Amino acid sequence: MAKEFICIVCPRGCRVRVDDYMVISGNQCKRGETYVLNEMKNPKRVLTTTVRTIFEEIPRASVKTSDAIPKELLYQAMELINKVVITEEMDIHDIVIENILNTGVNLVLTKEIKLIKN
Ligand code: SF4
Repeated sequence: MAKEFICIVCPRGCRVRVDDYMVISGNQCKRGETYVLNEMKNPKRVLTTTVRTIFEEIPRASVKTSDAIPKELLYQAMELINKVVITEEMDIHDIVIENILNTGVNLVLTKEIKLIKN
């Protein structure tokens, strides 16, 4: 059965179609073809979210996976992330969870956690 995807590799957002014979059309570059083939085999996403901290002035810190992880693991990853509480100051790109769900991908901070000292 033919399928249609919106390629999210670049902001152009091409509508890429795969017909019953696996002929791919609508992509304006080769990356769209790769994207669609990956989407059909093993869709992956970069997960961006926040984690709790113990700090009143910064109650949540923004994080993301350092690379895309399988889409089917996103819910499980969020369950794990929701249990995390940061208890110390950290720098941008510091690892919050190493090798999340054995994907080989780390969860990292996207903004430093630094408290203003008076
Ligand atoms: S197919 Fe190419 S040009 Fe179109 S959205 Fe994907 S990456 Fe961008």
